Amino acid sequence: MELITKDLLINVLFILLPVLLMQMFYLLKYIYRLKKLKESWFLFFPLISMILCMLFPFSLGSGLTWDLRSVPFLLGMLYGGPKYRVCLLSLLLMVRYLIGGTGFYISACTFGTMAILTTFLSSYYLKLNLKHKLVLSGLLVFVLTFITFVASIQIAEVNLTASMWIQYFVINVVGMLIATALWEVIQMNFEVLQKLMKAEKLEVVSNLAASISHEVRNPLTTSRGFMQLSYEGDIPPETKEHILISIQELDRATEIINDYLTFAKPAPEQKENIIIYEEIHHVINLLTPLANMNNVKIGLRIEKNEGHYILGERKKLEQALVNIVKNGIESMHDGGKLEVGIDYCPHILRINIRDQGKGMTRKQIDRLGEPYFTTKEKGTGLGMMVSFSIIQGMGGKITVKSEIEKGTCFSIEFPIANV
Ligand code: ADP
Ligand code: MG
Repeated sequence: MELITKDLLINVLFILLPVLLMQMFYLLKYIYRLKKLKESWFLFFPLISMILCMLFPFSLGSGLTWDLRSVPFLLGMLYGGPKYRVCLLSLLLMVRYLIGGTGFYISACTFGTMAILTTFLSSYYLKLNLKHKLVLSGLLVFVLTFITFVASIQIAEVNLTASMWIQYFVINVVGMLIATALWEVIQMNFEVLQKLMKAEKLEVVSNLAASISHEVRNPLTTSRGFMQLSYEGDIPPETKEHILISIQELDRATEIINDYLTFAKPAPEQKENIIIYEEIHHVINLLTPLANMNNVKIGLRIEKNEGHYILGERKKLEQALVNIVKNGIESMHDGGKLEVGIDYCPHILRINIRDQGKGMTRKQIDRLGEPYFTTKEKGTGLGMMVSFSIIQGMGGKITVKSEIEKGTCFSIEFPIANV
């Protein structure tokens, strides 16, 4: 192995070590709930990596050095804020100036340009998924090393063998890809930890809600009983009508509570025959209060068809449908209509859930089901992921059609079990 690779691999170590230290910091922060450890501190790690890389470079002669500083530099530029970028660039230039040689001017031009470019790219970059982030960061590091490389030849007129620059490119690009992937994985771990803590709280709340619903059901039943008695008594027809409406409303409230209780209660994991239209009724009952709150009318277009059922876990299917219907309701900020229908084909049953909400772009549809993809301020980005995995697990297929500002239609197809 030539010396350049050895030197550059030491640089790779300087990049990986701080990233792994960062992972340790995250864990420490969350296991021991160290609130004092601020997230912004983690941005020190690219700084440390960059300085270490610059202090242990491969020397090309005539005042030029090659190292992997572009990797932590780009990471910092892409993930950090404006102040941080200025700080990173100034530090790089300062250290490079102290090292001396013509390389300083080359660095000033190349890294200065890159800093401006990444400032514009950063917000776009942060919205990409992992694959596209890897492509973009790989491309950026390639461009940066390419400019450095051309500058080394043109300005400093050093002689480079092909093997040297190939090693330089490959190690830079691979280093960047590994560092980006690790950085992303670490951040994702951290998010999962945070979500887990939230989920713990949610579980307590949902248990509480279940017990409260249980308590509410009893007075409802009692009131209904007395109303029924009054209804049967000798009273004027007008009052009778009022009482009838009250009874109907009480029945609806009880039904919602019952549905909520069956939804919230844990169920054994076993496959059973599910009659879809019943499940949909449960789900709609459960979500009608939410729909009313959002001024959304729910239209049902389902025929009773007890002859057809599908195979799967009832609770899970309910959860999947709840997530989809809830998204539909939430997408209509100014109210609207949500239609739920079932089509029975010879071997397939199709559930259509159509809203008149804000719709999604092609890109958003592609990202649907990706963990943590959300466009809502308080969204979790987990609902669709759960729904997709449940439906696929039952042998179902989801198709999404959407138009911006017009609405979205989710079609879910299941094989009918008894044909
Ligand atoms: P959350 O609802 O917490 O944001 P989801 O996984 O349920 O997470 O949904 C992910 C994202 O998909 C939403 O933030 C939203 O942008 C988009 N989405 C899902 N369903 C719809 C819909 N019916 N209309 C418009 N956008 C939707
Ligand atoms: Mg949702």
